[in-house]
Amino acid sequence: MPKLSDRVGTFTDSVIRRMTRISDEYGAINLSQGFPDFDPPKEILDALAKVAYEGPHQYSVTYGAENFREALAKKQGRAIGRTIDPDKEIVVTCGGTESMMCAVMTICNPGDKIIVFSPFYENYGADAILSGAEPIYVPLVPPEYNFDLSLIEDGFRQGAKGIIVCNPSNPCGKVFTREELMGIGQLALQYDAFVITDEVYEHMVYAPNHHVCMASLPGMYEHTITCNSLSKTYSITGWRLGYLIGPEEVVEGAKKVHDFLTVGAPAPLQEAAVVGLNFPQSYYDGLLDLYTRKRSRFLDGLDKIGLKHNIPEGTYFVMVDIQDFLNLPQFAGYSDLEFCEWMIREIGVAAVPGSSFFREPVNNLIRLHFARSEETINEAIRRLSRMAELLK
Ligand code: GLN
Repeated sequence: MPKLSDRVGTFTDSVIRRMTRISDEYGAINLSQGFPDFDPPKEILDALAKVAYEGPHQYSVTYGAENFREALAKKQGRAIGRTIDPDKEIVVTCGGTESMMCAVMTICNPGDKIIVFSPFYENYGADAILSGAEPIYVPLVPPEYNFDLSLIEDGFRQGAKGIIVCNPSNPCGKVFTREELMGIGQLALQYDAFVITDEVYEHMVYAPNHHVCMASLPGMYEHTITCNSLSKTYSITGWRLGYLIGPEEVVEGAKKVHDFLTVGAPAPLQEAAVVGLNFPQSYYDGLLDLYTRKRSRFLDGLDKIGLKHNIPEGTYFVMVDIQDFLNLPQFAGYSDLEFCEWMIREIGVAAVPGSSFFREPVNNLIRLHFARSEETINEAIRRLSRMAELLK
């Protein structure tokens, strides 16, 4: 057998998506890979049914169907606080995943450095490797997930081409304050670098926190590539509709990368999703309400069981501390991955081992999500409460 590229030897498959496969094998409640188990809004489904017979069924414009980009420009223009040119400043991609890959490939040469917070959403490591870039990690320190701005400056001093900011953060639920973003932004301006933001959880930011777009800060639009997706906002993770927004010269480059990576996102699904992009503010208020209730229910459940956890300011993820379990003789020497496998088999609930998000050797955290129906959340809590017995 001829040898494969060195590249494929340098990273593993996604642990998040692997946990879903193991969870399905055992019929566990899957709180690992984050996606909702409830239906998308009816208006979007009705539009999809109509598209089935009326089309389009062939390629859209490679960087996105015109009406889809126009609707996006309106919606995200409001968030960023400026007029977005739908023809020159947007690329529609296959999910947020492609938008991130496309952004990193657009700004990085092989050998370039890029700053990544740790913990990070695991795709960023692969994005860097596939682009030939080398990550410089800056810790977000649990339990508050604060960071030291001087470490970011160190990264820029080493010549980092940019920094990836996931806001709100997967997996730790951190929502960056305006001051924190200004600090990062000022350094990016000072060192003439880019900020790539991943804002797919922008509509899941719990009071009193607020979502601030990096691109909306003074001077930052020209230095920011905003990556986003419709997956979480409209509960359509399988549709693979994402996009990036940035200044014209960046988008010109990104359009080319995207064209040869995937040609385009599914045309019929773009057409059906336009109705969602045009929803009034009340839709987003309702979504936030729904997730606020799920968050309270889930966190209350964890508290009653006595499982230690962080309080996410945004996203639908919670980090649970399993150190008390790892101290028990029956788990001696267990990795967090082995603990998650044990949970799937014996408790019937799937989580993601925290080590897949951290650069540092962290073994005591696991990530759970609450994008589930009330019934499923209740059942998951019931199952998890069996873990508490072990600590008595
Ligand atoms: N963002 C989701 C998570 O972290 C999953 C996304 C994906 O698997 N593409 O679980």
